Amino acid sequence: MTPPDGPLLTAHGLRKSYGPATALDGAAFSVRPGEIVAVTGPSGSGKSTLLHCLAGLVRPDAGSVTYAGTELTAMSDAERGALRRGEFGFVFQYGQLMPELTCVQNVALPLRRNGSSRKEAERAALGWMERLEVAGLGRARPGEISGGQGQRVAVARALVTGPRVLFTDEPAGALDPFEGERVMELLTGAARTAGAAVVLATRQARVAAWSDRESAVRDGRSPDLRRTA
Ligand code: ADP
Repeated sequence: MTPPDGPLLTAHGLRKSYGPATALDGAAFSVRPGEIVAVTGPSGSGKSTLLHCLAGLVRPDAGSVTYAGTELTAMSDAERGALRRGEFGFVFQYGQLMPELTCVQNVALPLRRNGSSRKEAERAALGWMERLEVAGLGRARPGEISGGQGQRVAVARALVTGPRVLFTDEPAGALDPFEGERVMELLTGAARTAGAAVVLATRQARVAAWSDRESAVRDGRSPDLRRTA
Protein backbone atom coordinates (compact mmCIF):
# COMPACT_ATOMS: atom_id res chain seq x y z
CA MET A 1 0.00 0.00 0.00
CA THR A 2 0.99 3.64 -0.45
CA PRO A 3 2.53 5.31 2.64
CA PRO A 4 0.51 8.42 3.63
CA ASP A 5 3.16 10.87 2.38
CA GLY A 6 4.45 8.71 -0.47
CA PRO A 7 3.47 9.13 -4.09
CA LEU A 8 0.07 7.83 -5.21
CA LEU A 9 0.91 7.62 -8.90
CA THR A 10 4.38 7.48 -10.44
CA ALA A 11 5.84 6.90 -13.88
CA HIS A 12 9.40 6.24 -15.01
CA GLY A 13 11.06 6.06 -18.40
CA LEU A 14 7.86 6.31 -20.43
CA ARG A 15 8.30 5.97 -24.19
CA LYS A 16 5.56 6.08 -26.79
CA SER A 17 5.77 6.49 -30.55
CA TYR A 18 3.07 6.84 -33.16
CA GLY A 19 4.75 5.67 -36.35
CA PRO A 20 7.68 8.04 -36.91
CA ALA A 21 6.40 10.55 -34.30
CA THR A 22 7.95 10.19 -30.83
CA ALA A 23 5.36 11.43 -28.32
CA LEU A 24 7.21 10.35 -25.14
CA ASP A 25 10.95 9.83 -24.88
CA GLY A 26 11.69 8.81 -21.29
CA ALA A 27 9.13 10.91 -19.38
CA ALA A 28 8.76 10.62 -15.60
CA PHE A 29 6.01 11.81 -13.27
CA SER A 30 4.84 11.64 -9.68
CA VAL A 31 1.82 12.88 -7.70
CA ARG A 32 1.02 12.47 -4.00
CA PRO A 33 -2.49 11.90 -2.56
CA GLY A 34 -4.53 15.12 -2.80
CA GLU A 35 -1.79 16.99 -4.64
CA ILE A 36 -2.59 19.10 -7.74
CA VAL A 37 0.18 18.77 -10.33
CA ALA A 38 0.19 20.58 -13.68
CA VAL A 39 1.86 18.83 -16.63
CA THR A 40 3.10 21.80 -18.65
CA GLY A 41 4.78 22.29 -22.00
CA PRO A 42 4.12 23.67 -25.46
CA SER A 43 1.71 22.08 -27.91
CA GLY A 44 3.03 18.73 -29.18
CA SER A 45 5.42 18.21 -26.25
CA GLY A 46 3.67 15.02 -25.10
CA LYS A 47 1.39 16.25 -22.29
CA SER A 48 -1.76 14.45 -23.46
CA THR A 49 0.12 11.24 -24.21
CA LEU A 50 1.67 11.33 -20.72
CA LEU A 51 -1.74 11.89 -19.13
CA HIS A 52 -3.24 9.04 -21.17
CA CYS A 53 -0.42 6.68 -20.12
CA LEU A 54 -0.77 7.67 -16.45
CA ALA A 55 -4.52 7.01 -16.58
CA GLY A 56 -4.09 3.65 -18.28
CA LEU A 57 -5.87 4.81 -21.44
CA VAL A 58 -2.75 4.31 -23.57
CA ARG A 59 -0.16 1.57 -23.09
CA PRO A 60 3.40 2.96 -23.33
CA ASP A 61 5.97 1.20 -25.53
CA ALA A 62 8.40 1.17 -22.58
CA GLY A 63 8.56 2.35 -18.98
CA SER A 64 6.24 1.81 -16.04
CA VAL A 65 3.27 3.46 -14.33
CA THR A 66 2.57 2.52 -10.71
CA TYR A 67 -0.66 3.43 -8.91
CA ALA A 68 -0.99 2.80 -5.13
CA GLY A 69 1.75 0.21 -5.26
CA THR A 70 0.38 -1.69 -8.27
CA GLU A 71 1.99 -1.55 -11.68
CA LEU A 72 -0.68 -0.37 -14.12
CA THR A 73 1.51 -1.20 -17.09
CA ALA A 74 1.48 -4.89 -16.08
CA MET A 75 -2.34 -5.14 -15.80
CA SER A 76 -4.72 -6.59 -18.38
CA ASP A 77 -7.02 -4.21 -20.28
CA ALA A 78 -9.97 -5.41 -18.17
CA GLU A 79 -8.10 -4.77 -14.90
CA ARG A 80 -7.08 -1.28 -16.03
CA GLY A 81 -10.67 -0.55 -17.08
CA ALA A 82 -11.96 -1.55 -13.65
CA LEU A 83 -9.28 0.57 -11.95
CA ARG A 84 -10.20 3.60 -14.08
CA ARG A 85 -13.91 3.28 -13.32
CA GLY A 86 -13.28 2.84 -9.59
CA GLU A 87 -10.42 5.20 -8.84
CA PHE A 88 -10.07 7.80 -11.62
CA GLY A 89 -12.18 10.69 -12.94
CA PHE A 90 -11.73 12.54 -16.25
CA VAL A 91 -12.44 16.03 -17.57
CA PHE A 92 -11.33 16.80 -21.12
CA GLN A 93 -11.26 20.06 -23.09
CA TYR A 94 -14.85 19.64 -24.27
CA GLY A 95 -17.09 18.23 -21.54
CA GLN A 96 -18.21 15.29 -23.68
CA LEU A 97 -21.59 15.23 -21.97
CA MET A 98 -24.29 13.00 -23.45
CA PRO A 99 -26.49 15.46 -25.42
CA GLU A 100 -29.71 13.46 -25.04
CA LEU A 101 -29.52 13.34 -21.24
CA THR A 102 -30.24 16.20 -18.82
CA CYS A 103 -27.30 17.60 -16.84
CA VAL A 104 -28.28 15.78 -13.65
CA GLN A 105 -28.64 12.52 -15.59
CA ASN A 106 -25.17 13.06 -17.05
CA VAL A 107 -23.63 13.54 -13.60
CA ALA A 108 -25.57 10.57 -12.20
CA LEU A 109 -24.58 8.26 -15.07
CA PRO A 110 -21.31 6.87 -13.60
CA LEU A 111 -23.18 5.92 -10.40
CA ARG A 112 -26.06 4.37 -12.38
CA ARG A 113 -23.47 2.31 -14.28
CA ASN A 114 -22.02 1.17 -10.94
CA GLY A 115 -25.46 -0.07 -9.88
CA SER A 116 -26.88 2.83 -7.81
CA SER A 117 -30.63 3.46 -7.91
CA ARG A 118 -31.79 6.49 -9.90
CA LYS A 119 -32.89 8.36 -6.77
CA GLU A 120 -29.62 7.70 -4.94
CA ALA A 121 -27.50 8.59 -7.99
CA GLU A 122 -29.38 11.81 -8.73
CA ARG A 123 -29.20 12.93 -5.10
CA ALA A 124 -25.41 12.50 -5.11
CA ALA A 125 -25.22 14.17 -8.53
CA LEU A 126 -27.12 17.23 -7.30
CA GLY A 127 -24.78 17.50 -4.30
CA TRP A 128 -21.77 17.76 -6.60
CA MET A 129 -23.64 20.11 -8.96
CA GLU A 130 -24.28 22.41 -5.99
CA ARG A 131 -20.55 22.36 -5.16
CA LEU A 132 -19.82 23.33 -8.78
CA GLU A 133 -22.60 25.99 -8.69
CA VAL A 134 -24.64 24.41 -11.49
CA ALA A 135 -27.42 22.79 -9.43
CA GLY A 136 -29.97 25.08 -11.14
CA LEU A 137 -29.15 23.46 -14.50
CA GLY A 138 -30.20 19.95 -13.48
CA ARG A 139 -33.02 19.67 -16.03
CA ALA A 140 -31.19 21.48 -18.85
CA ARG A 141 -29.58 19.52 -21.68
CA PRO A 142 -25.93 20.11 -22.59
CA GLY A 143 -26.94 21.96 -25.79
CA GLU A 144 -28.76 24.59 -23.71
CA ILE A 145 -25.88 25.67 -21.41
CA SER A 146 -22.61 27.61 -21.88
CA GLY A 147 -19.20 26.02 -22.36
CA GLY A 148 -18.12 26.98 -18.84
CA GLN A 149 -21.31 25.57 -17.33
CA GLY A 150 -20.76 22.38 -19.33
CA GLN A 151 -17.25 22.03 -17.92
CA ARG A 152 -18.56 22.47 -14.39
CA VAL A 153 -21.13 19.73 -15.04
CA ALA A 154 -18.29 17.57 -16.40
CA VAL A 155 -16.27 18.17 -13.21
CA ALA A 156 -19.28 17.13 -11.10
CA ARG A 157 -19.62 13.96 -13.21
CA ALA A 158 -15.91 13.20 -12.75
CA LEU A 159 -16.04 13.60 -8.95
CA VAL A 160 -19.38 11.91 -8.23
CA THR A 161 -17.79 8.45 -7.91
CA GLY A 162 -15.22 9.68 -5.35
CA PRO A 163 -12.07 9.16 -7.46
CA ARG A 164 -8.61 9.34 -5.91
CA VAL A 165 -7.19 10.96 -9.06
CA LEU A 166 -8.85 13.47 -11.37
CA PHE A 167 -7.20 13.63 -14.79
CA THR A 168 -7.91 16.78 -16.75
CA ASP A 169 -6.58 17.89 -20.14
CA GLU A 170 -6.94 21.62 -20.97
CA PRO A 171 -10.20 21.95 -18.97
CA ALA A 172 -10.30 25.69 -19.77
CA GLY A 173 -8.92 25.36 -23.30
CA ALA A 174 -12.20 26.11 -25.05
CA LEU A 175 -13.34 28.86 -22.66
CA ASP A 176 -12.82 32.62 -22.50
CA PRO A 177 -10.37 33.71 -19.77
CA PHE A 178 -13.09 34.74 -17.32
CA GLU A 179 -15.01 31.47 -17.63
CA GLY A 180 -11.75 29.54 -17.59
CA GLU A 181 -10.64 31.07 -14.28
CA ARG A 182 -14.01 30.28 -12.71
CA VAL A 183 -13.87 26.66 -13.89
CA MET A 184 -10.33 26.29 -12.53
CA GLU A 185 -11.30 27.81 -9.18
CA LEU A 186 -14.28 25.48 -8.84
CA LEU A 187 -12.44 22.41 -10.20
CA THR A 188 -9.48 22.75 -7.84
CA GLY A 189 -11.73 23.65 -4.88
CA ALA A 190 -13.99 20.65 -5.50
CA ALA A 191 -11.04 18.29 -5.95
CA ARG A 192 -9.59 19.46 -2.61
CA THR A 193 -12.98 18.94 -0.94
CA ALA A 194 -13.08 15.44 -2.42
CA GLY A 195 -9.45 14.75 -1.42
CA ALA A 196 -8.68 13.80 -5.02
CA ALA A 197 -5.24 14.32 -6.52
CA VAL A 198 -5.33 16.21 -9.84
CA VAL A 199 -3.17 15.66 -12.92
CA LEU A 200 -3.73 18.79 -15.02
CA ALA A 201 -2.28 18.92 -18.55
CA THR A 202 -2.10 22.48 -19.87
CA ARG A 203 0.01 24.82 -21.96
CA GLN A 204 -1.61 27.86 -20.35
CA ALA A 205 0.43 29.46 -17.51
CA ARG A 206 -2.67 30.93 -15.87
CA VAL A 207 -4.24 27.45 -15.70
CA ALA A 208 -1.04 25.85 -14.36
CA ALA A 209 -1.01 28.57 -11.67
CA TRP A 210 -3.90 26.75 -9.95
CA SER A 211 -1.66 23.73 -9.25
CA ASP A 212 0.53 23.02 -6.20
CA ARG A 213 3.46 22.09 -8.46
CA GLU A 214 4.40 22.02 -12.13
CA SER A 215 5.99 19.07 -13.92
CA ALA A 216 7.38 20.13 -17.29
CA VAL A 217 7.41 18.01 -20.45
CA ARG A 218 9.65 19.02 -23.37
CA ASP A 219 9.83 16.89 -26.51
CA GLY A 220 8.44 13.92 -24.60
CA ARG A 221 10.99 14.21 -21.78
CA SER A 222 10.73 15.46 -18.19
CA PRO A 223 13.61 17.92 -17.81
CA ASP A 224 13.01 18.77 -14.15
CA LEU A 225 12.79 15.17 -12.93
CA ARG A 226 15.70 13.99 -15.09
CA ARG A 227 17.98 16.60 -13.53
CA THR A 228 17.34 15.31 -10.04
CA ALA A 229 17.25 11.60 -11.02
P1 ADP B 1 0.52 17.80 -26.30
O1 ADP B 1 -0.58 17.27 -25.46
O2 ADP B 1 1.66 18.36 -25.49
O3 ADP B 1 0.05 18.77 -27.34
P2 ADP B 1 0.56 15.15 -27.51
O4 ADP B 1 0.82 14.16 -26.44
O5 ADP B 1 -0.84 15.34 -27.97
O6 ADP B 1 1.19 16.57 -27.08
O7 ADP B 1 1.44 14.79 -28.80
C1 ADP B 1 2.84 14.56 -28.76
C2 ADP B 1 3.31 14.12 -30.15
O8 ADP B 1 2.75 12.85 -30.46
C3 ADP B 1 2.88 15.07 -31.27
O9 ADP B 1 3.89 15.08 -32.24
C4 ADP B 1 1.63 14.39 -31.81
O10 ADP B 1 1.44 14.72 -33.16
C5 ADP B 1 1.94 12.91 -31.61
N1 ADP B 1 0.70 12.12 -31.36
C6 ADP B 1 -0.02 12.13 -30.22
N2 ADP B 1 -1.06 11.27 -30.29
C7 ADP B 1 -1.00 10.72 -31.54
C8 ADP B 1 -1.80 9.76 -32.24
N3 ADP B 1 -2.89 9.20 -31.68
N4 ADP B 1 -1.43 9.44 -33.51
C9 ADP B 1 -0.33 9.99 -34.07
N5 ADP B 1 0.48 10.89 -33.47
C10 ADP B 1 0.14 11.26 -32.22
